Amino acid sequence: MNILVCVKQVPDTTEIQIDPVKNTLIREGVPSILNPFDGYALEAAARIKDADPGTTIHVLSMGPEQAKAALKDALAIAADTAWLVSDRVFGGSDTLATSYILSETIKKIEEEAGPFDAIFCGKQAIDGDTAQVGPEIAEHLGYPQVTYGLSAEVDGGRLKVTKETDDGQEIVGIPLPCLVTFTKPSYDPRFPTVKRKMAANRAEIAVITAEGLPGINTEHIGLKGSPTKVRKTFVPQKKTGGVKIKEDTGEASAKKLFALLSDANIV
Ligand SMILES: Cc1cc2nc3c(=O)[nH]c(=O)nc-3n(C[C@H](O)[C@H](O)[C@H](O)COP(=O)(O)OP(=O)(O)OC[C@H]3O[C@@H](n4cnc5c(N)ncnc54)[C@H](O)[C@@H]3O)c2cc1C
Repeated sequence: MNILVCVKQVPDTTEIQIDPVKNTLIREGVPSILNPFDGYALEAAARIKDADPGTTIHVLSMGPEQAKAALKDALAIAADTAWLVSDRVFGGSDTLATSYILSETIKKIEEEAGPFDAIFCGKQAIDGDTAQVGPEIAEHLGYPQVTYGLSAEVDGGRLKVTKETDDGQEIVGIPLPCLVTFTKPSYDPRFPTVKRKMAANRAEIAVITAEGLPGINTEHIGLKGSPTKVRKTFVPQKKTGGVKIKEDTGEASAKKLFALLSDANIV
C-alpha cells in the first residue's frame, strides 16, 4: 500500500486567546502542534503498515516553513517521507483553494512516489474547524471517500473502514484509490521512539513551490481563487446561567414559564 496522509500544523488551541479589541486570534507565543485528528489518520496508516510492512507512508502539509515541525513530528511517529508545499502566492487561500493546491501537489508527488492507494486526512483541523478540506481533495481527484473513519484495513483491492455514525459504528468497503477522513478512535496513537525522533530531526523535507506545479491554475489559488469572504469575526457572548423553573407542580412551572416569556415579549 502507498498511503499519503495530509497533516496540518495548528496552534495549540488549549492555549489560544482572543484579542478583545480586534477579535482575532493571538497567535504570538502560542505553541504549534500537529493537528490531533491528523495524528489519528497517521495512526490508521501505521496500523495498516503494521499488518503489511511493505506499506509506505508519506505525509504532506501546506503552510509556511515552520510547518516542517509538524512534518517532522509525523516522521518521528510513523511516516517514511515528508513533503511541504509552500509559496507566498498560496496566502489567503480558503478551503477550496487549499484543497485544490493539495490535490495538484498530490499529483506531482505521485510522479516521484508512485500512485497513492489511499489518501488519509483528519476529520477537521482544530483551528479552521471546517472539515471541508478532506472531502474537497476527494472531489478534486475524483476519488470515493469515507468520512468519520475510526480504523481501516486492507481487504483485497478495497479498504474496509470502520466509521462513526450518529447511532454507533458502520463498516464500509471502499474501492482504491480512495480518501478517508479520521476522527478520534477509542485508542491512543503511538508515541515516537527516541531513534525515530533523532532520525526525523535530521530529515531533509522536500519543499514544493508554485513553480514546481506547472499545471496549477493560478486563478484558483490564494485570495483571488477563494470564493469564501469573511465578513465579520466576533467573540460569541458567554451564556449566563439562565433561569431554573422548579415549581411544585408541572402546571405551576408551565404558568411561571409562560409569565416569564410573556414579560420578555416572546409570547
Ligand atoms: C477567506 C479566507 C482566507 C484565508 N487565508 C488564510 C491565509 O492567508 N493563511 C492561512 O494559513 N490560512 C488562511 N485561511 C484558512 C485556510 O483556508 C484553512 O486553514 C485551510 O483551508 C484548512 O481549512 P481548515 O483549517 O478548516 O481544515 P479542515 O477542513 O477542518 O481540515 C481537514 C483535514 O484536511 C487536511 N488539511 C487541512 N489543511 C491542511 C494543510 N494546510 N495541509 C495539509 N493538510 C491539510 C488535514 O488532514 C485536516 O485534518 C483562510 C481562510 C479563508 C476562509
